Amino acid sequence: MGDTATIGGASSLVREPVVDAFADLRAPRRADQARALGLYPYFKAMARHGGGTVVVDGEQYVLTGSNDYLGLTQDARVRQAARAAVDEFGMSASGSRFLTGTLELHETLEAELADFVGKESALVFSAGFLGTAAAVATLGGRHNVLYFDDQNHASMIDGARMAANRPRRFEHNDAADLERLLKEDEGLPGGRIVYTEGIFSMSGHIGAIPEVVEVARRYGARVVCDDAHATGVLGPRGEGSHAHFDLVDDVDVVAGTFSKALASVGGFLAGTADVIDYIRHTARPFIFSTALPAPNIAASLEALRIIRSEPEHREQMWSKVDFMRQNLLDLGFDLLGSDSPIVPVLVGDESTALQFWRGLWEEKVFATPALPPAVAQGRSLIRTSFNTAHRLEHLERVLEAFEKVGRALRVIS
Ligand code: PMP
Repeated sequence: MGDTATIGGASSLVREPVVDAFADLRAPRRADQARALGLYPYFKAMARHGGGTVVVDGEQYVLTGSNDYLGLTQDARVRQAARAAVDEFGMSASGSRFLTGTLELHETLEAELADFVGKESALVFSAGFLGTAAAVATLGGRHNVLYFDDQNHASMIDGARMAANRPRRFEHNDAADLERLLKEDEGLPGGRIVYTEGIFSMSGHIGAIPEVVEVARRYGARVVCDDAHATGVLGPRGEGSHAHFDLVDDVDVVAGTFSKALASVGGFLAGTADVIDYIRHTARPFIFSTALPAPNIAASLEALRIIRSEPEHREQMWSKVDFMRQNLLDLGFDLLGSDSPIVPVLVGDESTALQFWRGLWEEKVFATPALPPAVAQGRSLIRTSFNTAHRLEHLERVLEAFEKVGRALRVIS
């Protein structure tokens, strides 16, 4: 930048024209176009939240797509636990866990989580994103080779960028493709880590954990599983995907969030005591970020205890999910083979997806579309999910809306 020149006989610094770094910043043109057409589906602000329904601009909508799978964000005991923690500790931990932010509550939650997911030790992060990113950035090292499922969440992809790791991608849920890469890399130095998920956040597919674990073991690779959407949902008592497949000891590290079934915000990693202690002392997203506040910890702890002692929340969720999946399939929708509470409804191109969203909105159904690049071209979908908080009348309203809009837009015949 800058150049020296002589002006009027004096040497001075003549700078290049200043470019305003913000001058060209604007939301993607697609967003402007969608807004102009009244087809902009994002950032809808809710005035009230009742679990299964919300109020936006004075109108009540049935909310689909929430991650509150067991409806516990509204549970009176969870809210009371958070209130009590605010009264006792205030709103912020005001320091990193490393220094002045660790509460006994953090350690209690970590001990109960470790016991729940069947690992020696657990570590709580201020966001799920930070935990999963650290599981890549910190464990990945620079010398290991990392293998990602093609549908892995952005937090893992960004974790690889944080540490300049060497990421490789295998076809979604395809252990044979993973094996192809591992074989190709034979002879490369470093260890191997495979990253997968218990439930994939867009397709709703349950991870092919048994197949992935089997291949990983044969090639001496470690396995890390992001169970953000599976904690509280899969497994005999909601312990997660590793328990669902009876592979608790075969998944080396479990990553989870509190922002879904655990009714709060924050995240965790669980594994052997050595691995977790290493992360505790080296993970930058953990060390250089303020500790999770007391009300959030208390809420997650209460939600965890409820999940462990009251299986009925999970049972109710599955009965609602099964009801919706079956009815949507009967109507003729393609649900991309989802086998979880996340139920994507394939609608096709981007314009159809936006019109579909608008049609649902007019029927007072809140459901957001997933568009490219989040999904492949021509594979836009409406991402729904169903949970314990939905009542039958809510679900029927959603089905009627999907049928009406699906027929009008010829997504179903
Ligand atoms: N992993 C997956 C699979 C997710 O879907 C998400 C968020 N939706 C995260 C990690 C990050 O979790 P959080 O929102 O709690 O930061």
